[in-house]
Amino acid sequence: MFLIDQEVCTGCGQCVDACPADAITIQNVKAVINQSLCRQCGICADQCPVQAIAESNTCYATQPDQREPFPQRIQGFFLRWWNLQEDCL
Ligand code: SF4
Ligand code: SF4
Repeated sequence: MFLIDQEVCTGCGQCVDACPADAITIQNVKAVINQSLCRQCGICADQCPVQAIAESNTCYATQPDQREPFPQRIQGFFLRWWNLQEDCL
């Protein structure tokens, strides 16, 4: 799945315009991906001028044994919370 680093995102909206699935919205000046609509095409990551979007092969929600160290886990929690990414595709 593709994740957006909320610390890096400037809310410019370029990914919103680029997404062919209308899966991205701006909420509180940050881009948010609706994972249920995302087609995993990666266009948003290519378009982002500040490289805020990256693909993650780790599903934190269903693979707790593969969680990263604590700081990354905290970041992942907030990313999922902000993006409402409770489910993995
Ligand atoms: S990976 Fe593709 S479908 Fe998913 S949010 Fe990015 S542009 Fe949209
Ligand atoms: S293109 Fe990048 S910086 Fe702009 S809103 Fe999307 S994720 Fe944020």
